[in-house]
Amino acid sequence: MALRAGLLPAGFQGADISAETGEIMKSDFRITVFEGDGIGPEIMAPTLDVLKSVQGNGGEYSFSFETAPAGAAHYAKTGESLPSSSLEAARNSDAILLSAMGLPDVRYDDGTEISPQIELRKALNLYAGVRPVTVSPGATSPLTLPEGKKIDLVLIRESTEGLFYTQGRGEVSDAEARETLRITRDVSEKLFDFAFSLAAQRKSDGCSMGTVTCVDKANVFRAFAFFREIFYERAKRFPDIKAEHAYVDATALWMVQKPWEFDVLVTENMFGDILSDLGAGLMGGLGLAPSADIGDEQAVFQPCHGSAPDIAGMGIANPFAMILSAGMMLEWLGHRHENPRMIDDAKRLRTAVDAVLGENRYLTRDLGGNSDTNSCAEAVIAKLVA
Ligand code: ATP
Repeated sequence: MALRAGLLPAGFQGADISAETGEIMKSDFRITVFEGDGIGPEIMAPTLDVLKSVQGNGGEYSFSFETAPAGAAHYAKTGESLPSSSLEAARNSDAILLSAMGLPDVRYDDGTEISPQIELRKALNLYAGVRPVTVSPGATSPLTLPEGKKIDLVLIRESTEGLFYTQGRGEVSDAEARETLRITRDVSEKLFDFAFSLAAQRKSDGCSMGTVTCVDKANVFRAFAFFREIFYERAKRFPDIKAEHAYVDATALWMVQKPWEFDVLVTENMFGDILSDLGAGLMGGLGLAPSADIGDEQAVFQPCHGSAPDIAGMGIANPFAMILSAGMMLEWLGHRHENPRMIDDAKRLRTAVDAVLGENRYLTRDLGGNSDTNSCAEAVIAKLVA
C-alpha cells in the first residue's frame, strides 16, 4: 500500500533546533500525557502501546511518558481543571498527547464546560490547529465520490483567538450578551506561513497541486477583510503555491459537494471548529479524525472528538483518531529534530491504520462494527510489527 503524504510542514519552525542547542541528535523524548475524561483513558492506553511498538523498531529514539492530571473529573475532585504543575510539565516536555476532556455535568460557575485543552492552546500559543480530512482507501465516507476523486485536504484552524478570544469572559446581562472576535496581524502571519508551508510540503510529496484557500466572511465583517488582506500579503512569499479565498458558508457547501477540489484550507477559530466536524463527517465520523495544535515551541496532539461520556467505561470507543494524532506527533517531532526515522515511522503508522480500516474487519460501533477498542489497536500493532 502506498504511503500517504505528510500532514505537517517540514522546515517550518524549529526544524534545526538541534543545531541551536548544540545537541547531536535528540533521541529521548519526554511526552506529557493527559488521559482526560470519559473515554480518554481508554483510548490513550492502547495508543501508548502503539507508540511503544513503533519506537521499538530500530531503537533510534525512545519516549518517556509522564501522565499529568487535568480535566472535568479532576476539577470535580479538586476545584482545579488544569493545575499549574500540569501546565508546567506540558511546557517543559517535548510534546503533549491529550485524549479528551470535559463532562457535560461538570461545569464552571458560569455554566460553561471544563475545557483545559482550550486553555492549553492559549497558554502555549498553539495557533495552528491542523485537522486532516482524509478518507483511507477502502474506508467508507458518507459521500460517493466520482471515479478517480479522493478526499485529502487539511483544514488549518487558528486556535488562540478569533471568536474564542473572550471565551470564559463574555459579558452577559439580562438584556444582552457579548463576545469579542479578535484577529491579530502577528498570529495571522504565522498561521498563513504555516498553511503555505504545509501546501508546499504536500506539493513536493506529490499529493496535491499546492493550493491554500483562505476561508472567511470578508464580504460582511471588516475583521475578515483584514484577515484576508494579510493572507494575500503572506502569499507573496510562496510564489509556487496558489492562493485563493472562499466564504465560509460556500465552503461548507463545497466540502460536501466537491471536497476533492480542496487542498489546504485556513480559517478563523470558530469557523474552523465547525468545519472540522464537517470534515470528520466526511471521513466517516469523529472517531477517525485526528488533530494537532501547533505553536512555535510546543504542540498538543489530540483527536477531534470529545470525551464521549455516553460510551465511557464500555471499552468500545474508537481509538483510531487518537492513534492517528499520535502519528502526527511522531511526524512533528521528526521534522523538529530532523529525525527521518520518526517521519518514516509516522508514515508507517498511518499506513498501518489505513490497512486495518481498509480490511473492514476491525470496526468499532460508531463505524458500524462491533470490535472493541483494544482489538482495533492490536490490529494496528500487528501490522506495524509484521
Ligand atoms: P466536545 O464538545 O467536547 O467536542 P461533543 O459534545 O461534540 O464533545 P463527543 O464527546 O465528541 O461530543 O461525542 C459525540 C458523539 O460521538 C457521541 O455519541 C459519542 O459517543 C461519539 N463519539 C465521539 N468520539 C468517539 C469515539 N472515539 N468512539 C466512538 N464514538 C465516539
